[in-house]
Amino acid sequence: MQKYTILLITLLCATFVVAESTKVHISVIQKGSVDNYLAMMSNENYQVIATKNAVEDAMRATTVDIKENETLFFVESFSHMQPKLEGEVARLDNIIVVQLPIPPTGHSHYPEKPELYMKHIPMSENEGAVVLKNITRATGPNPGDLFHLSTHNVNIDRNFLKQKLEELSGAVPVTIGGSTFRIEERRSSTGRMRARAYLTREFQKIGFEVREHSYTQSWYQGTNLVAEKKGKNADKFLIISAHYDTVSTAGADDDGTGIIGILAIANALKDIPLDYTLRVVCFDQEEIGLVGSQAYARDLNSSGELNNMIGLIQLEMMGYDRDNDGGFHVIDCNENTSANLSDTVIKTVIASKVKLAMVPACTNRSDHASFWRYNKPAIVISQNFFGGDSNPCYHRGCDEVANIDYTYMQKITDSVAQTVRNIIASK
Ligand SMILES: [Zn+2]
Repeated sequence: MQKYTILLITLLCATFVVAESTKVHISVIQKGSVDNYLAMMSNENYQVIATKNAVEDAMRATTVDIKENETLFFVESFSHMQPKLEGEVARLDNIIVVQLPIPPTGHSHYPEKPELYMKHIPMSENEGAVVLKNITRATGPNPGDLFHLSTHNVNIDRNFLKQKLEELSGAVPVTIGGSTFRIEERRSSTGRMRARAYLTREFQKIGFEVREHSYTQSWYQGTNLVAEKKGKNADKFLIISAHYDTVSTAGADDDGTGIIGILAIANALKDIPLDYTLRVVCFDQEEIGLVGSQAYARDLNSSGELNNMIGLIQLEMMGYDRDNDGGFHVIDCNENTSANLSDTVIKTVIASKVKLAMVPACTNRSDHASFWRYNKPAIVISQNFFGGDSNPCYHRGCDEVANIDYTYMQKITDSVAQTVRNIIASK
């Protein structure tokens, strides 16, 4: 093993010219044994991203900002033999090094169809490389560890989750301002407006102050909904968030569970004195590219308010656990800024009676990622989407309340409520 590793490094080092240092935003995908390879292979000469997932997933989960003529590598790990990959430059046992050409713009997010960039480009001596430095990896419990949570002070009511999710996802009609309707989908402007009207009422009912954040972002216009309960130190705030739009579906799981989850947390904390402000944000237009959260982060940043944000916890799809193993994700992608936040969630879960198993994963495919751009702590919590137990109704017409596992949803919501309380309430 060791012998081959040295050969591999020699091969790569011999092939590349060192380029000028450049700022690189890196998310190391997954944890575990691949990290050892990463540590061995990372040096000043090139950028290496380790992943246990497919290269395609790693590309979606990674933001890179690199100059023209620079080279990016992915190290991919397989549990069993795979056919040769396009762009593969080396293979060592189950570790595969894949070279990815840089998108034509020279620096950007990789597009939705990464296979476009998977075509092999022969390496030449003139190819530069990217500097990889100062990656701090989060320390946390081992993947798959089982934790126990005691729900002493914050109680999330399963019936509350069920009733509210049925209303938000059109399973039952709601009556607001004298008119009765079903919120059948949350993509059209009518559907989203109805959802906002419903959520405004629900947050006002529990004493939260509600306002709309309307924005224009590139060619989109939309409205985020912000509900708040002030703490003793009113300026400093923790955000819990989810997206209320859907892809034309009822969106019970995606992301009705997240929205009702944050409503339930707000409800559970409504009578507890807070040291810091709890801000609940329902993002618009997540499904068309994190539009609402990008606009929100941008506006918080330009007003200076972002400096007062303690962190952001996004809830994204928490209603599906087919294999009943309690598997879920707490995702920080090893962002330096966000490790403490995910550790706090995990430590809270460790103290629990409810069985949840953390499955490591990394993604920038939800609203939390909009805040990484500003180096702010932000994490996303979800079902075991990347670990083989994702909802088969994801983005399909069958994403309805009939398929929701409320017991599982309650466990996660409860854990997050505890965490939020630990962070912003001393009593
Ligand atoms: Zn979603």
